[in-house]
Amino acid sequence: MFQDLINEALETGRPYIKEGEVATYIPELGRADKNKLGISIFCRDGSRFSCGDTKDRFSIQSISKVISLAVALEVCGFDMVFENVGMEPSGDAFNSLIKLEGSNSHPYNPMINSGAIVVASFIEPKVSFEEMLKLARCFCQDDGIVLDEKVYGSEMSTVARNRAIAYLLESKGVINGNVEEALDFYVKMCSLSVTAESLAGLGLLLANDGVDPSGKRLLNSDTVRVVKTIMLTCGMYDGSGEFAVRVGIPSKSGVGGGLLSVVDGKMGIGIYGPSLDAKGNSIAGRKILQFLSSQMKLHIFAKKD
Ligand code: GLN
Repeated sequence: MFQDLINEALETGRPYIKEGEVATYIPELGRADKNKLGISIFCRDGSRFSCGDTKDRFSIQSISKVISLAVALEVCGFDMVFENVGMEPSGDAFNSLIKLEGSNSHPYNPMINSGAIVVASFIEPKVSFEEMLKLARCFCQDDGIVLDEKVYGSEMSTVARNRAIAYLLESKGVINGNVEEALDFYVKMCSLSVTAESLAGLGLLLANDGVDPSGKRLLNSDTVRVVKTIMLTCGMYDGSGEFAVRVGIPSKSGVGGGLLSVVDGKMGIGIYGPSLDAKGNSIAGRKILQFLSSQMKLHIFAKKD
């Protein structure tokens, strides 16, 4: 029955694929098949449901910002992170520089590129990329996660805008340590290869207060609370407000077509749909989540009866 609903959700999203486009500003992402679509749901009781292209690998892109923020909170602490990055939605595109020249030069939040580059600069001296890769595998319960060298090379060859952001931040003293190393670390994190299933695994970890399915605590409760809150307010870039109203599930998107969602205390949802809307969010993914949210009353403020 639940499986039927998930199948129906996928078909509700599918017609919207044609209204979006795959990302091309990172050339390797432009090679994705626009028509791919898959959803995985991992529930707290151990049940798992999947439909569509849930085993296809794609790059995590901005969803890595969730992993990086969680690790930064654990190793650097709340104060150090939020002394350097804000916690407000920016209302601008994910790769915008506009507000960085304003009176407060700190990035608005850790879910946009500028904020994530600053977060990377604080993690990088303490946790190596290899350790981050291991943590990502652990958080997502997916040993198949690797660095996608093609995506990494492709993004590094077209990284001018993120490099501009990084150097602007450095000029304002917001970058910790070496700016090029922070940028490289950030791009590597974006180039991790995941599946819709890996994202459902990560979502379940967050839905379950940082405790993995074996009962092991991987993240502190406070870290998980902060991460989920920032996902709710900032996870869909300048589409976060409307998404919170229509769907009301803390989520994070990536331009590789991934969508990570956390139904608190209940389930993790992972979606793969590389056709993106103008803001860089999976267009079918949004519709699928809207359908599931209304059908299953998953909105955080849905009336409980
Ligand atoms: N790697 C991408 C970038 O820095 C991530 C952006 C995204 O997924 N929105 O532009």
